This record gives sequence, structure tokens and C-alpha cells, in this order.
Amino acid sequence: MNDLNEQYDFIVIGSGGGSMCAALVMRAAGKSVLILEKTALIGGTTARSGGVMWIPNNPFMKRDGVEDSLEMATAYLDAVVGDSNDAPGTSAARRLAYLAEGPRMIDFLTAQGIKLTRVPYWPDYYDDRAGGSVPGRTVVAELFDVNELGAWKTRLRPNFLSLYATLEEALKLPTFNRSWKGKMVMAKVALRTVTAKLRGKHYVTAGAALQGRMLQAALRAGVHLRSESPVTQLIVENGAVTGVVVEKDGKTHRISSRIGVLVNAGGFAHNQRMRDQYQPGTSANWTLSAEGDTGEMIEEMMKQGAAIGQMEEMVGNQISIPPGAENQVIKPVVQGLTAAPHAILVDQSGARYMNEAGSYMAYCKAMLERNREVPAVPSWAIFDSQYIKKYMLAGTMPGEKKPEAWLRDGYLRKADTVEGLAAMLNIPPSALKATVTRFNGFVAQGRDEDFNRGVRAYDRWLGDPYHHPNATLGEISQAPFYAVPVLPGDVGTYGGVVTDAQARVLKPDGSVIPGLYATGVSTASVMGRAYPGAGSSVGPSFVWGYIAANAALGAV
Ligand SMILES: Cc1cc2nc3c(=O)[nH]c(=O)nc-3n(C[C@H](O)[C@H](O)[C@H](O)COP(=O)(O)OP(=O)(O)OC[C@H]3O[C@@H](n4cnc5c(N)ncnc54)[C@H](O)[C@@H]3O)c2cc1C
Repeated sequence: MNDLNEQYDFIVIGSGGGSMCAALVMRAAGKSVLILEKTALIGGTTARSGGVMWIPNNPFMKRDGVEDSLEMATAYLDAVVGDSNDAPGTSAARRLAYLAEGPRMIDFLTAQGIKLTRVPYWPDYYDDRAGGSVPGRTVVAELFDVNELGAWKTRLRPNFLSLYATLEEALKLPTFNRSWKGKMVMAKVALRTVTAKLRGKHYVTAGAALQGRMLQAALRAGVHLRSESPVTQLIVENGAVTGVVVEKDGKTHRISSRIGVLVNAGGFAHNQRMRDQYQPGTSANWTLSAEGDTGEMIEEMMKQGAAIGQMEEMVGNQISIPPGAENQVIKPVVQGLTAAPHAILVDQSGARYMNEAGSYMAYCKAMLERNREVPAVPSWAIFDSQYIKKYMLAGTMPGEKKPEAWLRDGYLRKADTVEGLAAMLNIPPSALKATVTRFNGFVAQGRDEDFNRGVRAYDRWLGDPYHHPNATLGEISQAPFYAVPVLPGDVGTYGGVVTDAQARVLKPDGSVIPGLYATGVSTASVMGRAYPGAGSSVGPSFVWGYIAANAALGAV
């Protein structure tokens, strides 16, 4: 092993959400920082993601005159997350630290020149609970011209969206055929694209805009970053973490840290062995997370005595895999499919079993739970011709002709009657007919008596704003009738090592492993077993990175 005598004040493992945030805090205090990234690309799943951060009471809400407070946000988290008996990542102290430091972290990034803003209308996922907010608590980055990164441009992980559109605009685009707003957004995005090309700009959006801006600030601040540098071990001396062992160019090096090491190395979504152990019934083939999400740093921290929690949890994201998409890195997400009017989700017996307009985490959790009693993986999205004309389906636009292979290979099932469709799905025809008839009855009376779909503002946000009287309730009544399979995919895992209110990694007895900090999905989430609002994964990764760096500085 090579000891290059390299020493930094602070070392960060992984270049995810919290890593560059922590590094900027260290640089602002005049400390040297090294970020070691395993893959060739910087930014982690965070760069690929929507880049949305759930930060209640954030400065942009104040700017826009939107009501929020620490008390409201605390009441909300208490109501949604509940007690922490079986979720050691969440505790009153950790929730308070998250909510108090989140707005400070945003102020800090803004002062570093990172251009952020909020999405005005994005209801919390349980907006009807105490302290819930209908106006957005979400913070996002402004579009970023990746050319500003110069030689680093090609080293930023690309986003799942390649449009020159903000996330908010992208969400409105599918309504272009039915609304003036949709048409205007489409025209605006088209104009921006043409103008950008003429002016030599290359915009990236969502998570890539966030991480592009963070990378730019980190480089300007003198943070050292090395890609293709997997960390394989933590160096521990007298019980304290004092450095790392890293592979670089086929050689093994030791690098030491004076103040501490922060693990921001993602979760274990691509590690089928760990999934089988902690999340049986889920598949690494269904995850949308980046390929570096292989869990070895969680296992290394466990070797050094770290406690773990919430390992059964993932941030589920319902997907559907049409022919040809089996090997796609990002499989088609169908979050809106069964939340839109004229569609429901049923298990393999033909029964509805959830509010289909709930959060993606709750949706996939419900699928996996149902599957323990009745086969429900896959479940079937059932919809009619009104749906297919108006809404997107597995990545195709509303009304667009569906590929021949979809019908030929039995991915998209189509029949003239609900009973005929049921027969194609091996569901008792009378059972599916009864389910559809009951749902249509709820639509007629404007109330889903079984699951309250459409009661929350969030449900209606996920539905169709142009469908009245309820944006998520519409009859399944016009032939032909269709079905596609829906699977419990995910955007990453949500459990890991247990940390305290200063992001320090803890042992099972509650004592601290000195020098070791962790953030992001390498940790047991502060959100426990729930997903309170958009950005409940990237937000915590940033906030705990910020907290870790400040705590490490305070501990020197
Ligand atoms: C399409 C999509 C959209 C999403 N949208 C959102 C959203 O808008 N808001 C939200 O909150 N969540 C969203 N998510 C989920 C979210 O992106 C992730 O949960 C989150 O980004 C995880 O962040 P992180 O900082 O923990 O890890 P990451 O951002 O994944 O970073 C971890 C990094 O560590 C590296 N690494 C791993 N092991 C090692 C090692 N041994 N040595 C060195 N480096 C290592 C990895 O390669 C990776 O680059 C989305 C996910 C996807 C896929």
C-alpha cells in the first residue's frame, strides 16, 4: 500500500448531495478538503435526480410571503413521521436540527453564489396533516449552463431530463394539447432552446443544475475532487477515524484527515445481496439510482462498529417496463398514471388496495405489503380510451401511437370490455368489473369512499388540473379498455448508519465513533419510514452535510 503522506483537514467519500455542501463550509473556514468519488462522474444520484430539496420555512417562502415556521414544520414532521421507536434515524433532536439548520444551509449556499429558488405550488405529500403546507416548501436550482464548467463539463453526471426546461415547466409540458398554459410553456422552452443554441449555451436542469452549480462553486473555492477513486476502507486509530484507503489507477493509497471523514456514498440500491437481506422482494433491476449505489461504505462503517437503522426502507417509485426498456438505465416512471382520472391500480385478484394518488414511497410500500397477502407485484394499471388520449403512458406522449411491440408482446393489454380485459390478465372478470363499477360510482358521487383519493391537495396536484370537479377522479367507461403492469421500483434506499443531531456516526450503545460523519442515503433517514414532501432525500443529504462540516469544525 502507498502512503503518499497526503493529508487533508477533511475528506468526503462520494460526491453526492451533501458532499460539496460540506466541502464549501470547510473551505469557508479556510480548511483543506478532498472529495473522493468512485465513478467517473461527479454528482451521484443527486445530479440525475429532480434536484428538489424539501426545506420547510426556507428563505424563498419568506421572500414570497408564504406562511411557514419551525413550529408548523415540527408539528408536520411529528404527525407524518411519528415516534422513533423502530426508526433510530429520526428523533425529536434530529428533526429539530434538520428543520432549524435547513434554512441556514440555504442562506449559506446563496451567499456562496448558488442560484436557488422555490417551486411555488408543490403540496406536501400529507398536506392534510397538522402543519402541512400546500404551497411548496421545495427548493431547486435555476437552470445551469454546463459550459461554465469548462473542462469539467463532461464529468458532471447527466440528468434524467435532457430538456432545456425547469422541473416545473417539464411537469406542465404534457398538458400542451389541452391547455393554453401547456402550449405557452412549450413555446417558452422551444424559444429558450433555440436561443441557447445560438448563444452557445448548454443548459442542464433539475439535479444536474444543482450539482453543476455546486461543482462550480467547489472548484472556485479550491476543493480538491478526484473521480474514479473508490474508497475501500476507513483508517481507524485508537477508535477514531483518521483517514481513508482509496484505490486510484490500480494502486492503493492511504490519505489521512486532521478533522474528520464524511461518508456521502449513497445507499445500496444496486446491491442485490443487500436487497435480499434487508428488502426481500425488491430488485436492483428496478432502481433508477446511479450505478455507484452499491452499499460498500455502509458495510465498512458497520465493520467499524456503526449502528444501522431503517434498512428495509426505500424511496419507492412506481415504474412500468415496456418492451425495449428492460436495460434502460432510467426505466419509465409512472407516478401520474393511476393518479390521473380514468385510471386505477388493482392487484392480481382485480381489487383496488390503496389511494393511487399518494406519494411514490407510500405507493410502492403498499404494493409490497399487499403482495404478502395477494399477488400484487406486478399490479395492473387499468384505464380507458379517455386516459390514453389525454395522458402520458410509460414515456409516450398523450395520444401518441403506441409502439406495435407493446401490444404484440403483451405489455399493453387492450379489450372492448372490462370483462374481456380481465380475462387477458387472468383476473376473474366479475371481480374486475365490480371494482371498476364501484370506482365509477365514487367518481359519480365525487368521493372515493374506499381510499379517499382526491381529498388531499397533493392527490389533486398529481392528477389533472384541467379535469373537473376532482382532478384525480374520472370514470373508466369508454372502450377500449387497457392495462399495463406496474412494479415497485425505487429512486434509492432510505436506511443506513445511525447518526446523531450533529451527523456523527453512532454505535449501537449510542456512543460516537470519533471523526466519522455521514449524510444522505448512507444513513438512516431523519424522515423515519415516511416521505413527507418532494425533496425528502436530497434535502436531508445537503442539510446533514452542512451540519456535519459545522460540527466537525466545532469539534477541532
Ligand atoms: C430520476 C430520479 C429523480 C429523483 N428526484 C429526487 C428529488 O427531486 N428530490 C429528492 O429528494 N430525491 C430525488 N431522488 C432520490 C435522490 O436523488 C437520492 O436519494 C439522493 O440523491 C441520494 O443522495 P446522496 O447524497 O445520499 O447520494 P448520491 O447523490 O447518490 O451520491 C453518492 C455518491 O457516492 C459515490 N460512492 C459510492 N461508494 C463510494 C466509494 N466507496 N468511494 C467513493 N465514492 C463512492 C457514488 O458513486 C455517488 O456518486 C431522485 C432519484 C432519481 C433516480
